[in-house]
Amino acid sequence: MDDHQIQLKNINRRTVLNYIRKNTFATKAGLAASTGFTFAAVKKILDELEALKLVRFARIEKKGVGRNSVMYEINPDYGYIISLYMNRKAIHVAVVNLGRQIVSRRKLPMENRAVSQKELIEIILQSVHEVIHEAGVAKNKYIGVGIGVPGPIDMEKGLVLTPPNMPMLHYLPLREIIESKLDLPVYVHKDTNVIALGEYWSEKGRCSENLVYLDVDMGIGSGMIINGKINAGIEGKAGEFGHMTIDINGPVCKCGNRGCLEAMASGIAVLRDFASELEKYPTHPLYARRNYLEIDDLIQAYRDKDMIAVPIINRAAYYVGIGVANVINFMDPEKVVLGGLFLRNFEGSYDIVTNVASQRMLKNSNVCNVQKSQLGMDAGVIGCAEVVIDYFFQDAVNEIWAKN
Ligand SMILES: [Zn+2]
Repeated sequence: MDDHQIQLKNINRRTVLNYIRKNTFATKAGLAASTGFTFAAVKKILDELEALKLVRFARIEKKGVGRNSVMYEINPDYGYIISLYMNRKAIHVAVVNLGRQIVSRRKLPMENRAVSQKELIEIILQSVHEVIHEAGVAKNKYIGVGIGVPGPIDMEKGLVLTPPNMPMLHYLPLREIIESKLDLPVYVHKDTNVIALGEYWSEKGRCSENLVYLDVDMGIGSGMIINGKINAGIEGKAGEFGHMTIDINGPVCKCGNRGCLEAMASGIAVLRDFASELEKYPTHPLYARRNYLEIDDLIQAYRDKDMIAVPIINRAAYYVGIGVANVINFMDPEKVVLGGLFLRNFEGSYDIVTNVASQRMLKNSNVCNVQKSQLGMDAGVIGCAEVVIDYFFQDAVNEIWAKN
């Protein structure tokens, strides 16, 4: 075979692998229909990928009398990833297989814990060794470490810059340290970007090349996938959705501007508004604690249909809807995924967000492309693994093919 033929063969192999990744399971007929390859060509590629142990038989799908078809899947046991997802509240460490299943995990609460960088690295490494031990997988099966941290970060150096509320991460050369300790390739991305990639690959066949993930949590952030790749921006600062101006005269944001979406609709913003509104109601059961409120107080008040909490949440959801419409009008993505504690806990807010977004977006846009996160609480851990899995299937797999 000449170089050109080998290249073509590898492109076809990758097409088949990516289809299986997106759909979780695939039949020969499904692959032939979606790739345009002949049935014989699909069979040949699958046989090769099966021989390399990248793909395996999953199960028989029954399609009525005498019409059964074989389902294939990515061999989850081919490789393993160490996932490290960090936020203000906790560090999540996990071993995830190539089929994106979590094999072992640790959650280390970090809220109100002051640790030095040295201690932080020790805590992380200790947990990494624990999850590796628990997973019981041979060392040579690990293919990399995926890390998701709050931005901003220096992508090129794998360096965390100055995430607010997490001083222990400031200017921490995470990639360099973890790479030298674990002797594996390490990929560092902004937290919301890894979730966006995780959501992108969990689409299960509803293929969309462009996806925006909006995280409405205590802060508001976003991640962007363009043509199947993370769009981090030149300096890793792309997707500062939370700092779009909603009200030029609005409250001051932590970034210094006024009326950013984050200052109007984040968890911190609704807590601030709730506390200030409580000032007017000395008989309210939460009045005495108005200066020490936690987000869980507001969540409970909202669930109890509290007359102060509900309008505050509804108004914030309205602002998020306007933000979503702005994103759709600006980016025209195929899909907008909404995640974070806000939409998870304030149940009625999702409908408000989608209704407002559909009213405000330009005509002919399709509101169906706004949906809730499919990965939920595991989005960060799965997303970190997906960064490594994506690298494996786009690049590292070439080395395997070069030998075969
Ligand atoms: Zn701002």
